[in-house]
Amino acid sequence: MKEIRFFQTIQARLIIIYVLLILIAMQLIGIYFTRTLENSYLTNFSDSLNKQAYLLAGYMGDYLSANKEAKPAGETKAEDDLNAVVSKLFTISGAEIQVIDANGIVLSTSLQSHQSIVGQKNTQTEVNRALQGISDNERIIVDEDGERKQVVAKPVSRDGKVVGAVYIVASLSELYETMNRINRILISGTLIALALTALLGVLLSHTITTPIKEITRQTTAVAEGDFNQQVKVLSNDEIGQLGMAFNFMTNRLKEALSANEEEKEKLASILSNMNDGVIATDDVGRVIVINQRAKKMLQVEERNVLGKDITEVLGMAKEAIEPYVHGEESTAIIVPQIGDMEDELTLQATFTRIQRRDKGLTGTIVVLQDVTEREKLERSRREFVANVSHELRTPLTTIKSYLEALDDGALDDPQLAQRFIGVARNETERMIRLVTDLLHLSRFDSNQAVMSKEPIDIVDMLEEVADRFSFQLRQRAIEASIRVEKGIGQVMLDRDQIDQVLDNLVSNAIKYTPAGGFIDIGARKIDDQWVEISVQDNGIGIPKKDLGRIFDRFYRVDKARSRSMGGTGLGLSIAREIVKAHGGTIALESEAGQGTRVSFTLPIQAKAGEAG
Ligand code: ADP
Repeated sequence: MKEIRFFQTIQARLIIIYVLLILIAMQLIGIYFTRTLENSYLTNFSDSLNKQAYLLAGYMGDYLSANKEAKPAGETKAEDDLNAVVSKLFTISGAEIQVIDANGIVLSTSLQSHQSIVGQKNTQTEVNRALQGISDNERIIVDEDGERKQVVAKPVSRDGKVVGAVYIVASLSELYETMNRINRILISGTLIALALTALLGVLLSHTITTPIKEITRQTTAVAEGDFNQQVKVLSNDEIGQLGMAFNFMTNRLKEALSANEEEKEKLASILSNMNDGVIATDDVGRVIVINQRAKKMLQVEERNVLGKDITEVLGMAKEAIEPYVHGEESTAIIVPQIGDMEDELTLQATFTRIQRRDKGLTGTIVVLQDVTEREKLERSRREFVANVSHELRTPLTTIKSYLEALDDGALDDPQLAQRFIGVARNETERMIRLVTDLLHLSRFDSNQAVMSKEPIDIVDMLEEVADRFSFQLRQRAIEASIRVEKGIGQVMLDRDQIDQVLDNLVSNAIKYTPAGGFIDIGARKIDDQWVEISVQDNGIGIPKKDLGRIFDRFYRVDKARSRSMGGTGLGLSIAREIVKAHGGTIALESEAGQGTRVSFTLPIQAKAGEAG
């Protein structure tokens, strides 16, 4: 924060105001006081001078009239008397008293150093006015030395006639000296008062500015984000209340911010933990928020996407996105062009417009859902229906054409009729097999397959399989061997179902192994809990490209051949469902021309919850 210069501070201003107030007050008091005192002193002084002059004038009446009459006889005596009266009777320090006759001639003066004026005429205005009988004569004069003096002249009357005058000149220097002393006391008093005021001002303003400074410091800290600061409230005055209000405000602010932060965190954690991708854009379609899932789905980095146009991010054409942004349509299916085609994603994007009553369209939220699995299922369902129709159509067409041929006359040829009916029966049996397989699969799909597990001896089971196929094996000159690990014992399984799996695997092995081939049926313990049963041949094998889909329903490597062998293309998928229902897994390894090995695992003990 900017430093404040001392003279701009409240402290300095308070001190200056205090000092000025005291100065003005003292000045006013001083002026009023000294003026009043000076006036009172001057009035007193002139009163006492007037009184003395008046007394002297009364006293002098006899002298001056006697002096006039008896001058020739007792001149010297009268003058001496006069001098004695003037100089001794009234002793006013520093004052000169002159006795003046009717002609204005100075008869006597109290001032020894001024004896030279005796006999001379005093021409002062006051003297003249007194000789004219005017009694109120006084004035303040400034002599050649610059000294202020009070002048008083009183007429001396005898029998109603003015016979002379008394003239007094008294110095005012003592009075002014006293006034100066008082002034000096006042000035020093003022200075002391000012010094004390300044000192008190510093202390007093300190008590005001310190809490203000403290609050300022805390406010700065709060502004910088530190909400743990609290102002110490030391008093219950306005500043104390400001401090309390500040603390209250800080607490509320802290609560509001933490609530805000919590909301933000909640939102962020919802967004980042959502299983759906979320992208938010501004009003012109630029990406402002993208969550973790959306980044993963689109395989983009946040910094590369923020600010980019949504069409670019979703890989849509600008025109294509218009109906969604304008709310005419809400969901689109997107297939982002990323990575290899194998893990291609299908996304469903749901567009929601953000409307604000006052601002109109402020943005769009796009929710991305991974619908790959759903789409795949949908596709396989469609394929399945097509396959079933096709699989049923072929034998039905065959049967129909043979029946027509019989109808057209073949019936008359017993040998031909026998052959045609044989074909029709074969096709019907194939259809029955197909429908049975389909029913079987549908039971697994709807979890309606009933399993009755019991402890089955693996060696017995495998030997029985080999026995069942012994005729076919011999016919095709294929050698079969059974290899079972010692101590494998019994396994909990549904014998009929597992027999179906084994029959399928062995029959496949026989079907796809040329004469003179070799089939190995084996069982081994993987660990205490699992056994693995395998059927291996050295037949024609399966090309690599088909391995991925070999367990799919109706999938056949060589359709014509499979069909000619009586296969429905459902054997392996049923086998997988049965193994899955037992809690195990099935796998197929094969190399074209080398042979095939199909193996499945089974838990030795039935797991809790599984049907026994
Ligand atoms: P199918 O009824 O046609 O035998 P499966 O589901 O049992 O149907 O088998 C699917 C396809 O897998 C077969 O059509 C065949 O092409 C291939 N196949 C299965 N087992 C073998 C094997 N042991 N050797 C070679 N190809 C096999």
